Amino acid sequence: MLLIFLGPPGSGKGTQSARLVEYLNIAHLSTGDLLRKAVREGTDLGQQAASHMESGQLVPDSLVVHLVGERLAQPDCERGSLLDGFPRSINQAQSLDEHLSEQASRVGLVMVLKVDEDELRRRMLERSRLEGRSDDTPETIEKRIQVHRTTTQPLVQYYQDRDILATIDGSGTPDEVFERVKVVVDRHWHA
Ligand code: AMP
Repeated sequence: MLLIFLGPPGSGKGTQSARLVEYLNIAHLSTGDLLRKAVREGTDLGQQAASHMESGQLVPDSLVVHLVGERLAQPDCERGSLLDGFPRSINQAQSLDEHLSEQASRVGLVMVLKVDEDELRRRMLERSRLEGRSDDTPETIEKRIQVHRTTTQPLVQYYQDRDILATIDGSGTPDEVFERVKVVVDRHWHA
């Protein structure tokens, strides 16, 4: 079974995912991390993805879907996986559903972290100061928030219609948010 963290950039998906995979002992699949690694290593995929990432746009679906398919085929995903930053469009969600139905698997729970936009901007600017992420500039931050609103937000309805959506208040400290995440997960997930 699969878990998904959905939420705007800066909502704390990465931080919460790292804690949750440890808590549940399942695999962590962050498309942002996989793409940044591909860029650092200068692979074909990395070269194709870099300019999209730098400008705050989504990397083309075909590239990301391929990446996720490869990662899900690895043995550590057998116990279950947490998808962090994927899917980010309806098209990606449909590709994922098709892939999973071939494997007789499914998405079990989708968690949306809700954080207001001013707080997202503040967190991303803070991250750019601390981590030096090159896509955390003020212009790119606005672009990423906008892409989220237009392309990723419709997934909330997509998963709500399947009755597997949980909305979690993403405000406060990472510890406070993780307590809320655990309440939801303990209710839904029996690994
Ligand atoms: P993240 O670390 O999840 O914020 O992702 C950083 C960047 O990687 C995004 O702004 C996109 O350019 C790219 N990216 C990550 N995940 C996806 C995805 N599922 N689809 C398309 N692009 C993605």
